[in-house]
Amino acid sequence: MIDPGPADCVVAVAVDSPRHTGLGALDYLSEQPLEPGTLVLVPLGKREVPGLVWDAAQGEPQALPAGVALRPLSAVLSALPPLPADWRALIAFAAAYYQRGIGELALAVLPPELRKLDNTRLLRRISKLRLPGAALPAADTHDAAPDGVVSARPTLNDEQRAALAAIAALAADPPAPAGPARAARPVLLHGVTGSGKTEVYLHAAEAALQRGQQVLVLVPEINLTPQLEARFAARFPGRVLASLHSALTPAQRLRHWLLAHLGLADLVLGTRLAIFAPLPRLGLIVVDEEHDPSFKQQEGARYSARDLAVWRAHQLKIPVLLGSATPSLETWQRVQEGRYLRLPLELRIGGGAMPKVRMVDMAQAWQFASTQAEKDRVLAPSLLVAIEQRLQRGEQSLLLLNRRGYAPVLHCSACGWKSGCAHCSAWRVFHKSDRTLRCHHCGLSERVPRACPDCGNLDISPMGRGTEKLQEQLATLLPQARVGRIDADSTRAVGSLQQQLKAVHDGEVDVIVGTQMVAKGHDFRRVTLVAAVNPDSALFSSDFRAPERLFALLMQAAGRAGRDAEAAARSEMWVQSWNGNHPLFAALVAHDYERFARQQLLEREQAGLPPFAALALIRADARTAQVAQEFLLQARTVAQGFGGITVYPPVPPPVSKVADVERMQMLLECPSRTGLQRMLSLWLPELDALRSQHKGLLRWAVDVDPLAI
Ligand code: ADP
Ligand code: ZN
Ligand code: ZN
Repeated sequence: MIDPGPADCVVAVAVDSPRHTGLGALDYLSEQPLEPGTLVLVPLGKREVPGLVWDAAQGEPQALPAGVALRPLSAVLSALPPLPADWRALIAFAAAYYQRGIGELALAVLPPELRKLDNTRLLRRISKLRLPGAALPAADTHDAAPDGVVSARPTLNDEQRAALAAIAALAADPPAPAGPARAARPVLLHGVTGSGKTEVYLHAAEAALQRGQQVLVLVPEINLTPQLEARFAARFPGRVLASLHSALTPAQRLRHWLLAHLGLADLVLGTRLAIFAPLPRLGLIVVDEEHDPSFKQQEGARYSARDLAVWRAHQLKIPVLLGSATPSLETWQRVQEGRYLRLPLELRIGGGAMPKVRMVDMAQAWQFASTQAEKDRVLAPSLLVAIEQRLQRGEQSLLLLNRRGYAPVLHCSACGWKSGCAHCSAWRVFHKSDRTLRCHHCGLSERVPRACPDCGNLDISPMGRGTEKLQEQLATLLPQARVGRIDADSTRAVGSLQQQLKAVHDGEVDVIVGTQMVAKGHDFRRVTLVAAVNPDSALFSSDFRAPERLFALLMQAAGRAGRDAEAAARSEMWVQSWNGNHPLFAALVAHDYERFARQQLLEREQAGLPPFAALALIRADARTAQVAQEFLLQARTVAQGFGGITVYPPVPPPVSKVADVERMQMLLECPSRTGLQRMLSLWLPELDALRSQHKGLLRWAVDVDPLAI
């Protein structure tokens, strides 16, 4: 161990350690003072790990056991400019809010490639970004602009102009003479698909760019980035656009991240992880489709990029635009309270109306079905006729079924055997195309047995239907139609989604069968009929957010149809349901989001659910359900010492066993977010202490503001 020389100073370093191991920032010796945000390598035990120099005040002072000397840093990555204070504030806030370690979160959101480089190699990467003469490289990922991308700038309509004027006023809100600028209220840009929201983003972005600022645009799905990227690139030629999402190679990701961090990128587009991009000149954040559940990270630090965008904008006193046709009820409630500003775009560009919604009562449509074939049919006769009409006119139809594979389960009629998964509490799905039984939870895949494994009966048959079966049935029912399918199976190969979308755009398919992945965002010009084949399960889900998600999905799907005014007149959205009288569908038929939101918020308020309460979910994974349950029960006993909080008994989640791990969860509810935060920060350290008493407990985790319950 080296003696601290007189010139050495002590720096606090945040390293990757979970919150509950008791390590805050650790002290190390450095030959020179280092700015907070500097990336370093430090010895930790026998390993050498990356760390970030952290603000001394943030770290808990560590008392050193007698005889232990501070260790020196191993290396300083001085080639990388320190991560700025506003970024560190974002990390510190997110770590505290989502109950993770600062270093754990900070290092998890940096590009992994950064850990592999020394100063020399990093400098080389950085100098490649600034090659003299060459224009700065734009994002790697946009090749040709997809169909219909034009750089022409339309004349804004009145609503768009009003929205932009309001946004400009927020951005320009002058600092009060004696104090800092007031933080602008978050904006909800509320308009259906095709109402011109993206055009408003583009104009707001332009204003920010002209002020010399950077713009961050978040989208829910990687699949939607190329489309939007092409539009931004076409609108702002010469500006540097970086993209950040999980489909980039590690080298690309580092490059785009460096462009953002060094202030070289003017526009950064990305999925949820892009919220953690360091942006020294950030002046505007856009969150497109803000209601989308994909903005919530579902493992590790379970953060909401939408919520963090609002926090970051507030912190920097810059505008944040949340765009949606069906805002999350959290956002809508804040609009009602006047905390968010709603800017409506009520009209569809080009005057097209939203498609007419037609409900098909399945009880009625199927009541005279007598033969098995009639009972098995997927589409009501009237819907089939409507699709045939589209065929004759050369228009396309889009059928949504939220279940991929051929049939959700195989079944033996003699003994009742069903194709369960040996490792999960779930059925294995029958995929006819490759004749496998596949578990969608653990991935276990096997050839379909020839006979029932229990009784040897040869007559085993599929029950229920998935997208493959729907595609097959349609091919029989409409022999003249070209039927395509777009789901997670059909798009597994790289580039295949883009290829299939292109086929749709080029009119090479007449009927598209797909899961919800096609309902989002894609701009299908020739589709004049969208049908939800049977969306009922969401009405009876144990998850209180299921109706909200279904409504958003159906509204978004409806928006796929008739984006041209001329086609809009004959565009239709069909919904087949056994529960046609459900108020959700009544609101859908009326295209009335506000009615739906009012009714849902009333129910939520009466039930004490978000946004009228704050929730956290504790999940425990163990070898047996009993161990998981006992851990949670003990945790619950400890929690009952804290007032003002309701702790529900542990329950198994809908799929309780996955890959031989038993899962249990326990819900906490508190009237306020701050109350919940206070309780969690006291309670969670105690859970860590309990852990060792429960042999067979694999892990536990907390999910603050959980989305799926
Ligand atoms: P959204 O994002 O709400 O779906 P977009 O901004 O993409 O809507 O607009 C839909 C289409 O209408 C796009 O092709 C866009 O270029 C075009 N558009 C938007 N605003 C106008 C306008 N004021 N005049 C003419 N065309 C417009
Ligand atoms: Zn059998
Ligand atoms: Zn399984």
